[in-house]
Amino acid sequence: MKRMKKLFVFALFVAGICCPAFSQGSYSLAIHGGAGNVARESVSPEREVEYHEKLREALDAGEAILKIGGSSLDAVEAAVRILEDSPLFNAGRGAVFTAEGTNELDAAIMCGATLDAGAVAGITTLRNPISAARKVMENSPHVMLVGKGAEQFGYEQGLDVVDPSWFFDQRRWEQYREHLRRQQTRGALDVNDKMGTVGAVALDMHGNLAAATSTGGMMGKRYGRVGDVPVIGAGTYANNATCAVSATGHGEFFIRYVVAHEISAMMMYKGASLQNASEELINQTLREIGANGGVIAVDKDGNVSMPFNTTAMYRGYVKSDGTHSVGIFAD
Ligand code: ASP
Repeated sequence: MKRMKKLFVFALFVAGICCPAFSQGSYSLAIHGGAGNVARESVSPEREVEYHEKLREALDAGEAILKIGGSSLDAVEAAVRILEDSPLFNAGRGAVFTAEGTNELDAAIMCGATLDAGAVAGITTLRNPISAARKVMENSPHVMLVGKGAEQFGYEQGLDVVDPSWFFDQRRWEQYREHLRRQQTRGALDVNDKMGTVGAVALDMHGNLAAATSTGGMMGKRYGRVGDVPVIGAGTYANNATCAVSATGHGEFFIRYVVAHEISAMMMYKGASLQNASEELINQTLREIGANGGVIAVDKDGNVSMPFNTTAMYRGYVKSDGTHSVGIFAD
């Protein structure tokens, strides 16, 4: 009997080494491709399929890492890189244009286990700003680098360098032209036509949380404007004690209300659930002041919450229990 027990313990030990899923916990991954007041009629069925497919591709890339016991940091970076490379979203390729008709990109990443964080702003020649943010976190003593200095650091780190025209997308250019026209006639574009961002949050099998966010910012931004995305605690935050959050919306409000950290703080100090904390921030605090946007969030137990106060948020999630979904509108 004793021998049997020993054998059983040994078998568990071997299974644990060979298959991380056997020895460790579960995983969750959520992603977003930006929030806005998008009219359902304005998205053709073909385009809707394109969005769904790209969101699924990003989820698959992240899940492939989490499934084999990989880290949440690797998973969120992989998912965000796919969304950055797609012209469908306002990040990387397909970013909105500044007032001067250029693309300037911001990104941040945070590790919930160590509270290490990295961020970049005003990027024009690094193909994947999220990877630049990760390098800042791991290979520099700093948290945030901007403009030419951030790019110089990226070159030294061997990141993919592109011509600024890499980020150009015709559809976005037409939106920009429309933005200029409206400025001259009946005022600026509606704020919702200027937004968008991509992001990912994950819990890995080792209980570690991570958040990553990347954006082109807001259409027509001027004077080196930087939004909430690379501001740690505003658009991006992760802490193993509570949750990981990636935001999208009118950045100035997300900075003022320190949205991502506020959700974590409500859980930490008030004992709020992820669902209640994130809903309160997005659908009460921000809604009351007319600030549009949403967040994706995952907590230390793998719960996922994706509230938004606009008509749409491109989003999706997958969990180790087999549940998954992707969606755009509120239904
Ligand atoms: N939060 C981004 C910014 O303000 C834009 C967005 O998510 O829509 O730069």
